[in-house]
Amino acid sequence: MSGSSPAAVPALQAGATIGILGGGQLGRMLALAAARLGFKCHVFSPSPDSPAFDVVHRVTAADYTDTDALDRFAADVDVVTYEFENVPAETATFLAARVPVLPDPKILAITQDRLAEKNFVTRLGIATAPFAAVAGPAELAAALERVGPAAVLKTRRYGYDGKGQMTIKNGSDPAAVFRELGGQPCILEAFVPFEREVSLIAVRAHDGAVECFDVTENEHRDHILKVSRVPARLSEADRREARRIAETIAQKFAYVGVLAVEMFVLPDGAGLLVNEIAPRVHNSGHWTIDGASVSQFEQHIRAVAGWPLGKPIRHGRIEMTNLIGAEVEDYRRWLTVPGAAVHLYGKAAVRPGRKMGHVTQVFPE
Ligand code: AMP
Repeated sequence: MSGSSPAAVPALQAGATIGILGGGQLGRMLALAAARLGFKCHVFSPSPDSPAFDVVHRVTAADYTDTDALDRFAADVDVVTYEFENVPAETATFLAARVPVLPDPKILAITQDRLAEKNFVTRLGIATAPFAAVAGPAELAAALERVGPAAVLKTRRYGYDGKGQMTIKNGSDPAAVFRELGGQPCILEAFVPFEREVSLIAVRAHDGAVECFDVTENEHRDHILKVSRVPARLSEADRREARRIAETIAQKFAYVGVLAVEMFVLPDGAGLLVNEIAPRVHNSGHWTIDGASVSQFEQHIRAVAGWPLGKPIRHGRIEMTNLIGAEVEDYRRWLTVPGAAVHLYGKAAVRPGRKMGHVTQVFPE
C-alpha cells in the first residue's frame, strides 16, 4: 500500500447523501452525526431490523452480494463509507467502481486478516506481540516453540469481542484448541501480560491532516469492552508513542476517516504493543459524543465529506460504560444519575453479550 493520497474527491455540499455499509449502532451514530451537519444517509445492511435504519433518510435491506441493490445504492449516494470492517472486499470494490468509497477498500483486505495486519504493522517498525501463522495443527507445535508456551490462538478472519480466539496455557492440547476454533487458518500470538489496555482514535483527512483523541483506557469483561476511561493512565512518553503509532498507520494507508488502534501497555514502563487496528469508528470512542467538542462520528463524516476536521477539546474526565445484554434494563436508573448521558441503540432483542447501549459520564478534572 502506498503512502500517497487517493485522487482528490471534491468536498460534499451540505444536503449530499452519504452511503453507509452496515446498520449496527456504529452506523446509527454516524448517521446521527451526519444529520447534524445537514447530510442525508442511506444505510445498506442485510438485516431488516438494523438499528441504523431507524434514523436515516433511506435504507436498503439486501445482501452484500446483491449487485442490483448495490447498483441502486451507488446511484443514490455521493460517497460510501462503512461502519463494519467485515463488509466483503468485493462489495466495496464493486461500489468503488461507481462512487468514491472511503476509506480505500484495499485497507479492508489488510485489516480483515489478523496475519496481514500484524505483518503490515511490523513492517512499519511498530511493535506487536510475537506471532506466527498457523495453517493447521501440524504447524501449531512449531509456532508454540517460537512464540512461547503461553499464547493466544486467533482465527485470521471474523474475530470480534473475543470470538474466534482461545488462550493456550501449559498443558492445553493445542490440536483440540485448533479444532475448537473450527480448523481455520489462524495466527498464534504470545500471551501479553499487559498492565492495561488502551486505544487511540485518530482521523485523517484527504489532505493528510490527522487529529487524535486523547488515549482511552479500556476495561474488558468476558472479552467485551465494559468501561472506557479518559484520560488513560499512561506516561507522557507512551502517550506520545500512541499518537505516533496511529499517525504512522493512518499516513501509510493514506487513510481517509476514523481508525482505532488498540494497544497493550506493558508493565514496568516497557512501552506499547499494537493489538489490533479497526478501520472504523470504535466503541472505545463513544465517549467523544458527550465528552468532546467534536465526536469520532462527526470527525469521520467530516473526513469522508472532504470537510475540515475538528480540533477535539475534551470536556473533563470521562467514564463510558457499555450496557451489555440485560444490563440495558437498568437504563431508567441511569436516566436519574446527574450528568449521565444515556444512549440506547433501539435493538429489540436482548441477548447475552449484545451491546444494547452505553452511558457517558463527564466529571470535572
Ligand atoms: P482482540 O479480538 O484481538 O481485540 O482480543 C480481545 C481481547 O483479548 C483483548 O482486548 C485482550 O483483552 C485479549 N487478548 C487478545 N490478544 C491477547 C494477547 N496476545 N495477550 C493477552 N491478551 C490478549
